[in-house]
Amino acid sequence: MISTTCRRFIVTSLTALLACGCSSDKPTDTSGGTGTDNQIILRSSSPHFNYYCTLGDAAVIDTICTLLESNLARVSTLYGYSIDDTIDVRIYPDFETFHNNVEWPTDDVPATLVGQCVDADEIKIISPLNSEPINSYGEILLVAIHETLHAIHFRVFVVIAGETYPPNWIFEGFGSFEANIRPNPDIIRQEIVDGNLPLIQQFEDADFFNNNYGYHFSYTIFEYLLSEYGYAKVSTLLRYPSRIEFSLGEGVTMEILNEGWHEFLIANYSNQT
Ligand SMILES: [Zn+2]
Repeated sequence: MISTTCRRFIVTSLTALLACGCSSDKPTDTSGGTGTDNQIILRSSSPHFNYYCTLGDAAVIDTICTLLESNLARVSTLYGYSIDDTIDVRIYPDFETFHNNVEWPTDDVPATLVGQCVDADEIKIISPLNSEPINSYGEILLVAIHETLHAIHFRVFVVIAGETYPPNWIFEGFGSFEANIRPNPDIIRQEIVDGNLPLIQQFEDADFFNNNYGYHFSYTIFEYLLSEYGYAKVSTLLRYPSRIEFSLGEGVTMEILNEGWHEFLIANYSNQT
């Protein structure tokens, strides 16, 4: 499973490759000639992103740019929000460099960490050109979308709306669902077989989230919520994460959500192989 973090702070399918204003020109070295090929410096910019990386990783900028700008356009439409500045995208050439530059409370950075949303203005990822064997090139592209969506989520629902930092299951679940970082269906099926289906609110605890397939299950929570309640109501829930009945409808409680979600899992994941 892809391991990412997002300290505070989401979205799309890879099919949404729209025109995005990404330059197809060769990357621009703006260091004034003082940078070297191996330095992580500003190499290129698109309307809403600045790309920092080594010269070798500049080869992936156009691909990442297309994905991020198109997903940003989708999210902007979804939330009626238009970003008017830029987000820095820092791409690190190897795991050692990446792990030395992420923000982590201890020196024990997980070896599988491949992406981080630092805040509303900055994301960091391992280069998709050098992410094996932890994750594939394509998986890291999804991580870049996931972290960007976190940055936008944080802007729209925390910085602008002034709401509290969302629970993990909302923040990670929506970010994973919209970035199309799919769960391992065999894990879900096995948890169903073993009678280990968790409660949604249990994922508000970070340790429980990390130790109980939080990324996998939170994806399915949004799969369920969107199929049951639709984007308009779920969007309200994103904005008001503590107000379930207000967001999803009269009489909807966490107990009802858990019951409906479990039924959804059993109906849709029991026969996965
Ligand atoms: Zn995340």
